[in-house]
Amino acid sequence: MSNMSNIKVVKFGGSSLADAGQFRKAADIVLADPNRRFVVASAPGKRFKEDIKITDMLYACYDKAAKGEDFTDDFSAIENRYNEIISELGLDISLAGEFERIKSAFAHMAGRDYAASRGEYLNSKVLAAFLDFEFIDPAGYVKFGENGVFDLDKTISLLRPRLEKCEHAVIPGFYGSMPNDTIRTFSRGGSDVTGSIVARAVKAELYENWTDVSGFLICDPRIVDDPAPITTITYRELRELAYMGAGVLHEDAIFPVRTAGIPINIRNTNRPEDRGTMIVAESSEASKYVITGIAGKKGLSAINIEKDMMNSELGFGRNVLRSLEKNGLNFEHMPSGIDTMSVIVGTEALKPVQQQVLDEITFRVHPDHLEVEDNLSLIAVVGRGMRKARGTAGRIFSALAHAKINVKMIDQGSSELNIIIGVSDEDFEAAIKAIYEIFVLTEVR
Ligand code: ADP
Ligand code: ASP
Ligand code: MG
Repeated sequence: MSNMSNIKVVKFGGSSLADAGQFRKAADIVLADPNRRFVVASAPGKRFKEDIKITDMLYACYDKAAKGEDFTDDFSAIENRYNEIISELGLDISLAGEFERIKSAFAHMAGRDYAASRGEYLNSKVLAAFLDFEFIDPAGYVKFGENGVFDLDKTISLLRPRLEKCEHAVIPGFYGSMPNDTIRTFSRGGSDVTGSIVARAVKAELYENWTDVSGFLICDPRIVDDPAPITTITYRELRELAYMGAGVLHEDAIFPVRTAGIPINIRNTNRPEDRGTMIVAESSEASKYVITGIAGKKGLSAINIEKDMMNSELGFGRNVLRSLEKNGLNFEHMPSGIDTMSVIVGTEALKPVQQQVLDEITFRVHPDHLEVEDNLSLIAVVGRGMRKARGTAGRIFSALAHAKINVKMIDQGSSELNIIIGVSDEDFEAAIKAIYEIFVLTEVR
């Protein structure tokens, strides 16, 4: 049995393993610290802006196969990406047998999840050979229940004893298996979750998540140029931001490590000298600004309900929510006034059931007015520093008013950790810029 203390689990994202050059950087990082014993790998990502991720190529290829169309060329393109990496690294391995097996499974309808999972499977084979580490297939250890929900307890009970027997390993991210052993993936970006599971299984001292940015930035770098990095963020703050669309880390990657108090360090494979962002349980370190981060999502709809005296009508809210529940619709937020209430839902999920939901609400609560407003965005302003600071909501309002942005709703979470603002989709980017400006660029502390 190997020594199970001071272990670091390292996960590399798709861009960190997109080609041979990136493989070399990743390997240098792993080998620079003997505690970096368990490596979770993603499928090769984009090498340049217009490039296609292997995962997307696999989905497209499988979709063709499933329709009975010829997928030979699409599959060859995938093979080529791996073969190029193998030959440029000068590795003495061949994936020819694997490719044949996978192709035949495609032809036999092995499933979309199986297809997508092969991206991480093959890449991990290559990385294991390059590092001379053991390869461990998560299909036997990362388990989902009958209902398709990930089973953490079962997974840990299988994975820990396996990793205890092992000094160094590469484990593909993104997938596991169902009770009947068919392959199942997490949702997109799910290798982050695998990294967290492995960290939990070995009780790692640190989970390092290596990507293409130097940590979590205050907001999306595609919206604000060169946003300031966040040095320390709590699990709760991160969860709020990740859920609202800050794409760096999968929103479910927090849970496995959170209860065990294992910190996550987001790092940049292309700039390993940068310290990145530490994600911790509670931070004694005050955040540099009142806010820690800003994130948001577009494409939402508000179901606006008005009725005089709704506040005194027993069960009003429950009846509204039951109308959604009956139609399998989740809601994002529910800001309310005395005689008004709005339920914010995803537009795409709403449209197919919109009429049924509205009929149901009408039937159950007889509103005076009922309407659906589309093209809505939600922006979350998150920060543990907001608990102590006064006037945060006021500052957001004035920043948005100054930028001539109409605020459609504002909602403060009971934890005082976040303020949610609703604006129309076309104001989304401008609103984030305005909030960033007032709290970060012009903050005097
Ligand atoms: P990986 O392939 O390594 O898992 P992802 O593409 O999933 O990487 O996540 C990293 C990307 O997340 C960055 O390149 C950046 O474009 C995007 N991103 C969105 N919001 C943020 C943010 N607040 N901070 C940093 N990066 C962000
Ligand atoms: N390769 C998968 C995806 O593109 C999983 C991941 O990268 O984390 O979503
Ligand atoms: Mg990712």
